[in-house]
Amino acid sequence: MHNQPIHLEVFQRHDLKVFLKREDQIHPVVSGNKYRKLKYNLQHVKAQGYKGVLTFGGAFSNHIAATAFACNEAGVPCVGVIRGEELERQPLNETLGRARDQHMILHFVSREDYRNKMTPEMIARWEETFPGYYVLPEGGTNTLAVKGCAEILDPEDAAFDVVCTAVGTGGTMAGLIEGAAEGQKVLGFPALKGDFLKHEIARLTTGGDWDLITDYHFGGYAKVDRSLIDFINIFKQKTGIPLDPVYTGKMMYGIAALAEKGYFEPETRILAIHTGGLQGVKGMNEFLKRKKLPLIQ
Ligand SMILES: *Cc1c(COP(=O)(O)O)cnc(C)c1O
Repeated sequence: MHNQPIHLEVFQRHDLKVFLKREDQIHPVVSGNKYRKLKYNLQHVKAQGYKGVLTFGGAFSNHIAATAFACNEAGVPCVGVIRGEELERQPLNETLGRARDQHMILHFVSREDYRNKMTPEMIARWEETFPGYYVLPEGGTNTLAVKGCAEILDPEDAAFDVVCTAVGTGGTMAGLIEGAAEGQKVLGFPALKGDFLKHEIARLTTGGDWDLITDYHFGGYAKVDRSLIDFINIFKQKTGIPLDPVYTGKMMYGIAALAEKGYFEPETRILAIHTGGLQGVKGMNEFLKRKKLPLIQ
């Protein structure tokens, strides 16, 4: 996808060239990186003759939204195992409603079953309930996903010194590390707390120059505060580009904060990846309204 220059005052003051790769424009609903992650997985599912795809997510999951759309487009049946059995008796939210419209079978389970979803006992249960389905981990991260995400970077992108991405399960970052040019550094901005990511990314990659910036998760996954919401709204005003509050907003906030601190050498060329996630803004705004916080414009 194309790279858009980002003219924020902080970047100009520190003499940084910052571009945003508009992977959010790959699809109107599906997060760009989720689409990339599914590409080779769906090819595998078809080539191996699986009956469909079974995967996992919470009620607002970008991965669930992406899987529903991509499977529908590919003509592959899919099951979404959704955290929270109480949701079955409530009206579906935007994410789940759209997934069902794309013919995803929604299978609601208790939080305990969800937590144990990849244990041998539970995997046996999925295989018994949905025989012949290919089980894709939460977030869609596996080696085929990494292969797809390595294609985010184009040959022309080799001119950048630093590539930045938001991090959830680490699959997207692993792909960027694999796809990065010689001498390029990949910086990941985790959207959640936790030390497991370093190991996971090391496991999925074969080397490379990379680092995790762990100061901008805002208290955890899907947690936000007023300064993050304000940043997202100002960024939209100044650049015309919407960011999501769970991933790309935190990454961009982190890049701006690092720039302000003088973390980057002058004239550093930075490519940030807009991975998408905009389908989740509506759900977040409903939450913000209840908390009497400003809304994302
Ligand atoms: C899932 C997601 C990420 C994180 O991707 P991982 O491969 O799980 O690290 C980043 N941005 C958006 C918009 C996402 O939906």
